Amino acid sequence: RSAGRVGGLNPDNGGDSDAKNLRVKLVLLGDSGVGKSCIVLRFVRGQFDPTSKVTVGASFLSQTIALQDSTTVKFEIWDTAGQERYAALAPLYYRGAAVGVIVYDITNPDSFHKAQYWVKELQKHGSPDIVLALVGNKADLQEKREVSVQDGIEYAEKNGMFFIETSAKTADNINQLFEEIAKRLPRPSTT
Ligand code: GDP
Repeated sequence: RSAGRVGGLNPDNGGDSDAKNLRVKLVLLGDSGVGKSCIVLRFVRGQFDPTSKVTVGASFLSQTIALQDSTTVKFEIWDTAGQERYAALAPLYYRGAAVGVIVYDITNPDSFHKAQYWVKELQKHGSPDIVLALVGNKADLQEKREVSVQDGIEYAEKNGMFFIETSAKTADNINQLFEEIAKRLPRPSTT
């Protein structure tokens, strides 16, 4: 039985993960303003509140979900908020991350290009078995769309990522994002 040593789990404090209860570090990356904080608040608190900001460094938010096979996954979510200004912290931020969620805004092509930069960063510095998700947020703003669904899908496929479009505002696909990530996590072996 080798539960407890799971690739991608935080080596610093992954001690309470076992076959049925995974605990994973999830890092959020993406341009400022794409909606990272709103996605987290929607997922954790079920609210859309653009005025509240998650503070960097001080703490992280966590949320546990149950899967159909009775496994639970506790996400410890690290929001970047302003992280770009602290490049020296990047290795600490990536270390032990089992999941990387890279967010762009479908109305902002620059944020899509920046997302590709973050993907490369994670491929370079993240653990080899990291689960990567590409998220096109603000999908409620269809009339202002400037990044096509096809562009998102193609880039994600090329890079072995899971792709989804979300809206933190309407809650569209927010829970699905985290459920799909949970399904893709490497599982500890129970034999
Ligand atoms: P962050 O810098 O990536 O953490 O972005 P925030 O979460 O602070 O959001 C930036 C702005 O985008 C805020 O004004 C939010 O109200 C807005 N926003 C976030 N998510 C959505 C969304 O899904 N749809 C729309 N229409 N606006 C959003």
